[in-house]
This record gives sequence, structure tokens and C-alpha cells, in this order.
Amino acid sequence: MVSALRHGVVVTCKAPGCDRPHHAKGLCTTHYMRQQYRRRKAAAAVRSRDLAGRVADLRLAVEAAACRVEQALIVLHHPEVGAAKGVTVADLLADADRILDDARNR
Ligand SMILES: [Zn+2]
Repeated sequence: MVSALRHGVVVTCKAPGCDRPHHAKGLCTTHYMRQQYRRRKAAAAVRSRDLAGRVADLRLAVEAAACRVEQALIVLHHPEVGAAKGVTVADLLADADRILDDARNR
């Protein structure tokens, strides 16, 4: 193996106790593949956590927006409630839109 030779000296794996020939990044084939496997696994775990966080964020946003729409329906059918609370149907719908836009753009 060409990479096992440097200046005429046989280069071995830097993993403790391993004397297999160098393959890449200072490691033999076995240790290099093991390192790559761990890195891919760690990256997949991070992606999975990111997705779980995104799902939770979107769910909260959808629930908050749905809550504003329910309030808008109440105000639509009972204008005196809106007047007492100082909110309009348009305000509540704009709020729902903003909440969903924020979640989409995050
Ligand atoms: Zn090794």
C-alpha cells in the first residue's frame, strides 16, 4: 500500500496498540472506518434532534394560531366580547398569520 510508505518508512496506525498500516488521517482501514461510522452516527443524531425540535416548534405555532382563530370565531359571533376585550376579528386573524409566518421562517 502506497500510503503505508513515507520516505521509505512504514507508517502505522496512530490508534493505541494498533500496528496495522496507515490508510487515511493517521489511521488504518479498520480505525478509519470506525471513526467515519461514529461521525456519521453522531451527525445523524444531531439531525434527528433538530427535526424533533422543529416538529415541536411547528406544533406549538399551529396550536397558538388555531387558538387565535377560535377567538376570532367567538368575536365574530359575539362582537360584545371583542369590544370588552378590545380585540377585533382582523387583529386575531393577523395574529394567527404572524404566528404561522414566524414558524415558517424560523
Ligand atoms: Zn488501527
